[in-house]
Amino acid sequence: MSHYELRCRECGRTWGNQPRSICDDCFSPLEVVYDYGALRAQTNGNALTRERISQRSPNMWRYAELLPLPQGFQPRLPVGFTPLFNAPHLAERLSGTAAAANLYIKNDAVCLPTLSFKDRVVAVALANARAFGFDTVSCSSTGNLANAVAAHAAREGLKAWIFIPADLEPAKILGTNVFGAKVVRIAGNYDQVNRLCSQIADEHHWGFVNVNLRPYYAEGSKTVGFEIAEQLGWRLPDNVVCPMAGGSLITKIKKAFDELIKLGLVEPKEVKFFGAQATGCSPISTAVKTGSSEIEPQKPNTIARSLAIGNPADGHYAIKTIKGTGGWSEDVSDPEVIDSIRLLAETEGIFTETAGGVTVGCAGKLYRQDRILPEETTVLCVTGNGLKTTDVLAGVYRTERPIAAKLGEFESYLQQTLDVAEVPEAIRAADEAVQVGA
Ligand SMILES: *Cc1c(COP(=O)(O)O)cnc(C)c1O
Ligand SMILES: [Zn+2]
Repeated sequence: MSHYELRCRECGRTWGNQPRSICDDCFSPLEVVYDYGALRAQTNGNALTRERISQRSPNMWRYAELLPLPQGFQPRLPVGFTPLFNAPHLAERLSGTAAAANLYIKNDAVCLPTLSFKDRVVAVALANARAFGFDTVSCSSTGNLANAVAAHAAREGLKAWIFIPADLEPAKILGTNVFGAKVVRIAGNYDQVNRLCSQIADEHHWGFVNVNLRPYYAEGSKTVGFEIAEQLGWRLPDNVVCPMAGGSLITKIKKAFDELIKLGLVEPKEVKFFGAQATGCSPISTAVKTGSSEIEPQKPNTIARSLAIGNPADGHYAIKTIKGTGGWSEDVSDPEVIDSIRLLAETEGIFTETAGGVTVGCAGKLYRQDRILPEETTVLCVTGNGLKTTDVLAGVYRTERPIAAKLGEFESYLQQTLDVAEVPEAIRAADEAVQVGA
C-alpha cells in the first residue's frame, strides 16, 4: 500500500496511482495527496524529524517521504539541494537601502544535471514512468524541461521524444540533442505544442512528464520549498518571489511549506507569495492585477522563452496562491529582463537565464512598491542558467580589438581605457568652467 495517491482538486474523487492528470468526472486537474497521519504516527526512529533529514545525502531525495516515489525506487542522480545564500549587494540595489540584509537567492542555475529547477520535476516523473511500465518518455517544453527529460532519460536508459516550439534558443535545442533524444520542432508556440502532445498521449503509450505524468512531475517542485526552509535553519521566510510559466512551481513551494508545518518540522508562519512574469507573456500577473480569478490566454511575445506559456495549466491555482497569501504579481519588459540579468551577475556573481532576469526585475518593482519591505526575509527563486540564453545578450558587450602580447601594448591600452573612463569627469569639469566664466 502506497502512502500517497491521486485526488481530484475540485470534486475530491480519488484515482489511486496511474498515469492520468485529469478527473473524468469533472475534468479538473489531479493532485498527489499523502497520508500525513501515517507519516506523523511513524515511531521507532522512523519518524520524519529535522535531525533525520539533516543526516541524509545533500540532494532532493532527502525528502523522499514527501514525494510520490514507487516502492523500491533507487535514485541514480543527486538532483537538487542547490545553494541558498544571502545577496546583500543585490538587496541594496533593489531596495535602495543597506537595511535589506535579509534577501536570499535560491540558486537553481546550478541544479544537476541540466542547470535548471526542471531537473527536480523530471526526476520524480521518471521514477513513476518506470513503475508505470513506459519505455519511452516525452514532453512539450519551453526548453529547460527538454534538457532535463533528455538527460534523465539517457541516465535511466529510456527513449525520449521531445516536442518544442521551432524557434527556441539554440543552446536549449543543442542541449537536448546531445543526450540522444529525438527532438521534434513544431512550427508554433508552446501552447500549440502542448495541445499536440495531449493528442499524441492519447494515441501512444508514452510517459509524457507534463501531460499524463503531470501530477507526479509537479510534486518535484516542492523540494525547492523544503530546501529553502531547511537552509534558512528550519524556518520559513516572509516572502518568496517566483517566476511563473505554467504556474505550478509557485503553488508547490506553498504546498511544501504547508506540509512542513503540518508535520511540525517548522513553526507555522504566513508566507507571502509573489509571482513574476515577462510583460510579453503575463496571463497570470495580468489576472492578479485586474482582480480576476481566471486566466485570459495570451499570445507570447518575449525573450523569456522558458516562461512563454500563454495558457498556463495551473494559472488558476497560482492566482489563488498569490491572492490567498496576501502577495502580488508583477511583470517586466524585455529590456528590464536584460538589465536584471546583468544586475544579478554584477552584484552577486550569478549568471541566470531570462527567467532569473524576470524574477530579479519583478523583485525590484515589489521593493519599490513597498509590497516587500527591506527588513523582511525574502527569497528570490533563480531557476535557470544564463549560459543557455546567451543569445539575448548579443550586442550588449563590445568585442574589444585584440592587442599584441607585449607589456608596452598593454600599458598604452590601459592608459586609453582609463582616459575613456575619465571622459564624463572631464566633461563635467569643462561644463563647470563654462558656468564659472559666464
Ligand atoms: C519552467 C520554468 C519555470 C516555471 O515553472 P512553472 O512551474 O511552469 O510555472 C521557471 N523558470 C524556469 C527557468 C523554467 O524553465
Ligand atoms: Zn473531479
